[in-house]
Amino acid sequence: MAKSPEVKLAVFGRAGVGKSALVVRFLTKRFIWEYDPTLESTYRHQANIDDETVGMEILDTAGQEDVLQKEGHMRWGDGFILVYDITDRGSFEDVAPLKGLLDEVKRPKHVPLVLLGNKADLDHARQVATEEGERLAADMACAFYECSACADQVGTGGGVAEAFHELCREIRRR
Ligand code: GDP
Ligand code: MG
Repeated sequence: MAKSPEVKLAVFGRAGVGKSALVVRFLTKRFIWEYDPTLESTYRHQANIDDETVGMEILDTAGQEDVLQKEGHMRWGDGFILVYDITDRGSFEDVAPLKGLLDEVKRPKHVPLVLLGNKADLDHARQVATEEGERLAADMACAFYECSACADQVGTGGGVAEAFHELCREIRRR
Protein backbone atom coordinates (compact mmCIF):
# COMPACT_ATOMS: atom_id res chain seq x y z
CA MET A 1 0.00 0.00 0.00
CA ALA A 2 1.48 3.33 -1.07
CA LYS A 3 1.96 6.05 1.49
CA SER A 4 1.08 9.54 0.39
CA PRO A 5 1.56 12.99 1.81
CA GLU A 6 -0.87 14.73 4.10
CA VAL A 7 -3.84 16.58 2.79
CA LYS A 8 -5.19 19.51 4.73
CA LEU A 9 -8.96 19.72 4.98
CA ALA A 10 -10.92 22.61 6.46
CA VAL A 11 -14.59 22.52 7.38
CA PHE A 12 -16.50 25.75 6.90
CA GLY A 13 -20.07 26.86 7.53
CA ARG A 14 -22.21 29.00 9.79
CA ALA A 15 -22.06 28.32 13.54
CA GLY A 16 -24.49 25.59 14.52
CA VAL A 17 -24.66 23.68 11.21
CA GLY A 18 -22.90 20.69 12.80
CA LYS A 19 -19.27 21.02 11.67
CA SER A 20 -17.86 19.69 14.93
CA ALA A 21 -20.43 16.90 15.11
CA LEU A 22 -19.54 15.84 11.54
CA VAL A 23 -15.80 15.84 12.20
CA VAL A 24 -16.24 13.87 15.41
CA ARG A 25 -18.56 11.45 13.62
CA PHE A 26 -15.99 10.96 10.88
CA LEU A 27 -13.14 10.42 13.34
CA THR A 28 -14.90 8.31 15.97
CA LYS A 29 -18.12 7.06 14.30
CA ARG A 30 -19.92 8.51 17.28
CA PHE A 31 -22.21 11.46 17.75
CA ILE A 32 -21.55 13.98 20.46
CA TRP A 33 -24.56 16.14 21.18
CA GLU A 34 -22.94 19.22 22.60
CA TYR A 35 -19.65 20.58 21.49
CA ASP A 36 -18.19 23.96 22.49
CA PRO A 37 -19.32 26.18 19.58
CA THR A 38 -16.44 28.61 19.99
CA LEU A 39 -13.83 25.88 19.81
CA GLU A 40 -11.56 25.57 16.82
CA SER A 41 -9.58 22.32 16.60
CA THR A 42 -7.32 20.43 14.28
CA TYR A 43 -7.19 16.67 14.12
CA ARG A 44 -4.93 14.14 12.44
CA HIS A 45 -6.40 11.10 10.83
CA GLN A 46 -5.40 8.28 8.52
CA ALA A 47 -7.80 6.55 6.20
CA ASN A 48 -7.59 3.89 3.57
CA ILE A 49 -9.02 5.39 0.40
CA ASP A 50 -8.97 3.34 -2.81
CA ASP A 51 -6.22 1.09 -1.36
CA GLU A 52 -3.97 3.94 -0.40
CA THR A 53 -3.24 5.31 3.04
CA VAL A 54 -4.04 8.97 3.13
CA GLY A 55 -2.89 11.09 6.04
CA MET A 56 -5.06 14.07 6.68
CA GLU A 57 -5.13 17.06 8.91
CA ILE A 58 -8.62 18.38 9.56
CA LEU A 59 -9.42 21.89 10.73
CA ASP A 60 -12.82 22.29 12.35
CA THR A 61 -13.45 26.03 12.21
CA ALA A 62 -15.75 27.77 14.68
CA GLY A 63 -17.77 29.53 12.01
CA GLN A 64 -17.55 32.87 13.80
CA GLU A 65 -14.23 34.06 12.41
CA ASP A 66 -13.71 37.46 10.84
CA VAL A 67 -12.68 37.69 7.20
CA LEU A 68 -8.95 37.82 7.95
CA GLN A 69 -9.10 34.64 10.01
CA LYS A 70 -11.21 32.96 7.35
CA GLU A 71 -8.69 33.89 4.67
CA GLY A 72 -5.91 32.44 6.80
CA HIS A 73 -7.75 29.14 7.12
CA MET A 74 -8.43 29.14 3.40
CA ARG A 75 -4.77 29.67 2.55
CA TRP A 76 -3.88 26.81 4.90
CA GLY A 77 -6.28 24.25 3.41
CA ASP A 78 -5.89 22.07 0.33
CA GLY A 79 -9.58 21.23 0.22
CA PHE A 80 -12.80 22.35 1.85
CA ILE A 81 -16.09 20.99 3.08
CA LEU A 82 -18.75 23.67 2.95
CA VAL A 83 -21.51 22.70 5.36
CA TYR A 84 -25.03 24.01 5.69
CA ASP A 85 -27.97 22.85 7.78
CA ILE A 86 -30.97 21.69 5.71
CA THR A 87 -33.26 23.16 8.41
CA ASP A 88 -31.63 26.61 8.23
CA ARG A 89 -31.99 28.47 4.95
CA GLY A 90 -29.65 31.23 6.13
CA SER A 91 -26.84 28.71 6.51
CA PHE A 92 -27.44 27.66 2.88
CA GLU A 93 -27.28 31.27 1.75
CA ASP A 94 -23.91 31.61 3.51
CA VAL A 95 -22.34 29.03 1.19
CA ALA A 96 -22.02 31.05 -2.03
CA PRO A 97 -20.16 33.94 -0.31
CA LEU A 98 -17.79 31.41 1.28
CA LYS A 99 -17.09 29.91 -2.13
CA GLY A 100 -16.51 33.43 -3.49
CA LEU A 101 -13.95 34.16 -0.81
CA LEU A 102 -12.28 30.79 -1.41
CA ASP A 103 -11.91 31.51 -5.12
CA GLU A 104 -10.43 34.92 -4.33
CA VAL A 105 -7.93 33.52 -1.83
CA LYS A 106 -6.89 30.55 -4.01
CA ARG A 107 -6.94 32.28 -7.41
CA PRO A 108 -5.87 31.19 -9.96
CA LYS A 109 -5.93 27.67 -8.51
CA HIS A 110 -8.91 25.36 -8.74
CA VAL A 111 -10.37 24.82 -5.25
CA PRO A 112 -11.19 21.21 -4.29
CA LEU A 113 -14.55 21.34 -2.60
CA VAL A 114 -17.46 19.28 -1.30
CA LEU A 115 -20.91 20.66 -0.44
CA LEU A 116 -22.59 18.97 2.51
CA GLY A 117 -26.18 19.51 3.67
CA ASN A 118 -26.23 18.30 7.28
CA LYS A 119 -29.06 17.30 9.67
CA ALA A 120 -30.77 15.16 7.03
CA ASP A 121 -32.42 13.31 9.94
CA LEU A 122 -34.57 16.43 10.53
CA ASP A 123 -36.49 16.12 7.28
CA HIS A 124 -39.71 17.36 8.93
CA ALA A 125 -38.02 20.73 9.60
CA ARG A 126 -36.36 21.00 6.21
CA GLN A 127 -36.02 24.50 4.70
CA VAL A 128 -33.68 23.64 1.82
CA ALA A 129 -34.78 21.10 -0.80
CA THR A 130 -32.34 18.43 -1.91
CA GLU A 131 -32.62 19.78 -5.49
CA GLU A 132 -31.43 23.21 -4.32
CA GLY A 133 -28.33 21.64 -2.83
CA GLU A 134 -27.76 19.69 -6.03
CA ARG A 135 -28.12 22.83 -8.13
CA LEU A 136 -25.69 24.82 -5.97
CA ALA A 137 -23.16 21.99 -6.13
CA ALA A 138 -23.53 21.90 -9.93
CA ASP A 139 -22.91 25.68 -10.04
CA MET A 140 -19.78 25.21 -7.93
CA ALA A 141 -18.75 22.10 -9.92
CA CYS A 142 -18.35 19.99 -6.78
CA ALA A 143 -19.75 16.83 -5.20
CA PHE A 144 -22.86 17.07 -3.03
CA TYR A 145 -23.99 15.02 -0.04
CA GLU A 146 -26.87 15.20 2.35
CA CYS A 147 -25.81 13.63 5.63
CA SER A 148 -26.56 13.44 9.28
CA ALA A 149 -23.90 13.58 11.93
CA CYS A 150 -26.18 11.77 14.36
CA ALA A 151 -27.62 9.08 12.07
CA ASP A 152 -25.06 7.97 9.54
CA GLN A 153 -27.57 5.93 7.55
CA VAL A 154 -29.68 8.96 6.63
CA GLY A 155 -29.18 10.92 3.44
CA THR A 156 -27.58 10.31 0.06
CA GLY A 157 -24.31 8.81 -1.00
CA GLY A 158 -22.82 6.79 1.80
CA GLY A 159 -22.73 9.12 4.75
CA VAL A 160 -20.24 11.42 6.37
CA ALA A 161 -17.08 9.42 5.66
CA GLU A 162 -17.83 9.31 1.95
CA ALA A 163 -17.90 13.12 1.81
CA PHE A 164 -14.46 13.35 3.46
CA HIS A 165 -13.04 10.60 1.26
CA GLU A 166 -14.39 12.19 -1.90
CA LEU A 167 -12.73 15.47 -0.93
CA CYS A 168 -9.39 13.66 -0.49
CA ARG A 169 -9.81 12.12 -3.95
CA GLU A 170 -10.65 15.50 -5.43
CA ILE A 171 -7.51 17.05 -3.89
CA ARG A 172 -5.30 14.28 -5.20
CA ARG A 173 -6.74 14.43 -8.70
CA ARG A 174 -5.15 17.88 -9.02
P1 GDP B 1 -20.89 23.73 14.63
O1 GDP B 1 -21.07 25.06 15.31
O2 GDP B 1 -21.09 23.86 13.15
O3 GDP B 1 -19.63 23.04 14.99
O4 GDP B 1 -22.11 22.80 15.11
P2 GDP B 1 -22.10 21.64 16.23
O5 GDP B 1 -21.38 20.45 15.75
O6 GDP B 1 -21.65 22.24 17.52
O7 GDP B 1 -23.65 21.31 16.30
C1 GDP B 1 -24.61 22.31 16.59
C2 GDP B 1 -25.88 21.65 17.14
O8 GDP B 1 -26.49 20.87 16.12
C3 GDP B 1 -25.61 20.70 18.30
O9 GDP B 1 -26.66 20.84 19.23
C4 GDP B 1 -25.63 19.33 17.66
O10 GDP B 1 -26.05 18.34 18.58
C5 GDP B 1 -26.64 19.51 16.55
N1 GDP B 1 -26.37 18.66 15.39
C6 GDP B 1 -25.21 18.55 14.69
N2 GDP B 1 -25.34 17.70 13.66
C7 GDP B 1 -26.60 17.25 13.69
C8 GDP B 1 -27.36 16.35 12.85
O11 GDP B 1 -26.89 15.78 11.86
N3 GDP B 1 -28.66 16.15 13.22
C9 GDP B 1 -29.23 16.76 14.29
N4 GDP B 1 -30.49 16.48 14.55
N5 GDP B 1 -28.55 17.60 15.09
C10 GDP B 1 -27.26 17.86 14.79
MG1 MG C 1 -18.05 23.66 16.18
